Amino acid sequence: MNQKKWLFLICGVLLLAGVIGSILVLRRPRTSQVEIVQDGRVLYSFDLSSEEDQTIDVEYEGRVNRIEIRDHQIHVLEADCPDQVCVNMGWLDSAAPIVCLPNHLVIQFTEGSGSLDAVAG
Ligand SMILES: [Zn+2]
Repeated sequence: MNQKKWLFLICGVLLLAGVIGSILVLRRPRTSQVEIVQDGRVLYSFDLSSEEDQTIDVEYEGRVNRIEIRDHQIHVLEADCPDQVCVNMGWLDSAAPIVCLPNHLVIQFTEGSGSLDAVAG
């Protein structure tokens, strides 16, 4: 009796997923420029496409986030924060920044600059 309802619901969810997916793809920035921000202050800013593999320690009130750059990608390798959300988020995706709330840390792609857009166009 409820089968039609379920079918309708599943179709709706699939449609919604498609719409959201295409928005995310369209919004994907063309930049590989990344910044590490703490309390609204930019600590590090670099271009992942040309950055060497390395680890960066960022400290906040004695707690450390160890950030790793590998193969032109960036993630939080280890963190002293209680929730470990930043570690579990894995590699930085352009759709969502990596956030460590306890340590006031954000790792994000920066907005593409005008010059980059000109090259891409
Ligand atoms: Zn964290």
